[in-house]
Amino acid sequence: MNILGELFEMRKLRMATPGPTQVPQEILLAGAQEMIHHRSRQMEDIINEINRELPDLFLTKQDIYILLSSGTGAMEAAVSNSFNRGDKVLVVSNGYFGERFTDICTVFGLEVITVSSPWGTSVNIEEVERAYKQHPDIKGVLTVYSETSTGAVNDVKAIGSLFRDTEVLVIVDAISGLISHELSMDDWGLDIVLAASHKGFMMPPGLAFVAISPKAWKVINEIQPSTYYFSFKRFKKFYPMAPSSPGVSLLLALKKSLDLLKAEGLSNATRRHARIARATQRGLEALGFHLFVQSPHVRSHTVTAALAPSGIDAALLLKKLNKEYGLTITGGQGEFKGKMIRIGHIGAIDEIDLFGIFGIMELVLTEMGYQVQSGISMTALSDALGGGVIHHA
Ligand SMILES: *Cc1c(COP(=O)(O)O)cnc(C)c1O
Repeated sequence: MNILGELFEMRKLRMATPGPTQVPQEILLAGAQEMIHHRSRQMEDIINEINRELPDLFLTKQDIYILLSSGTGAMEAAVSNSFNRGDKVLVVSNGYFGERFTDICTVFGLEVITVSSPWGTSVNIEEVERAYKQHPDIKGVLTVYSETSTGAVNDVKAIGSLFRDTEVLVIVDAISGLISHELSMDDWGLDIVLAASHKGFMMPPGLAFVAISPKAWKVINEIQPSTYYFSFKRFKKFYPMAPSSPGVSLLLALKKSLDLLKAEGLSNATRRHARIARATQRGLEALGFHLFVQSPHVRSHTVTAALAPSGIDAALLLKKLNKEYGLTITGGQGEFKGKMIRIGHIGAIDEIDLFGIFGIMELVLTEMGYQVQSGISMTALSDALGGGVIHHA
């Protein structure tokens, strides 16, 4: 039996999900090398190379700390290192991961003020400004850049400039937004920026990345962190090496990921994501899906959420794609479970993948009794990707 346990034929397993993502073979193989000791000269060389490359992806001059955890670990680390119990913080939330920040802050005994906007929209900056006027004693603002539950992007640049000349720390979950979107940590005045390996880095899950501004360090240095494993002070003390055993295999894979991204160039990688995202949006519209994020300029390059056309059971569609064709696309979270599909297009997804995904969606939709004009999403993809369609007389 293969991994799915249900397929009777050999199928390639494919994912169009916003983390984990597909992992290019070169990266998988880099992680499959023989183990090396984490306090060896060899490891030190690799870490040094990684540390040289990583800040360029955040457009920062600061060091990046690598945690052996999923993205949520980095969110928790940012909270447990930056605030004291009882501190007041502002969470700017427009979806599931914004709500996660609130949950984490609550666990650490912080007083949470929220500015939120409905799922599928991004938060209005004037409301953030108003909340700050009402609560000038906040110690931090926490927000998500690209909200993976809905595919809406928040204006973290504007949030950064709002708090730049204040004592308030701006903490950004750029876990899915880094690489796929423009992000300039130093220029935008962001204080703590979080990322993770299984998103734009095209890697397996397991590493999280934290960039910390000098302004944030001033606060962190004064605070008794409510964590030992994730203590940033401890990370700094051991830098460039890790304070505890690092994920050696994942670091080997990371080195390859950084090589690939460097060869491509950060702005090219961002443009690639934008292009694939636009094509996905056009393809879904052609099939009669309703894009969940209505305002085109805040649509994520990471994931596209869409509501199924009436009469189509989104959960059944996803189930059939998965069971019959080995393709994993995710559904909605929270109240949108069963009504929504979310196509992840972060990382190594390319044009050929897209044609395959949409081709098979047409097939399954037709099987489900939905009237689809054959090839309609292919045409939409071709148009969006710039090829256009030649019409013969
Ligand atoms: C993936 C993701 C996370 C973290 O999820 P983990 O499963 O802990 O890696 C957090 N925020 C956003 C926006 C994400 O896309």
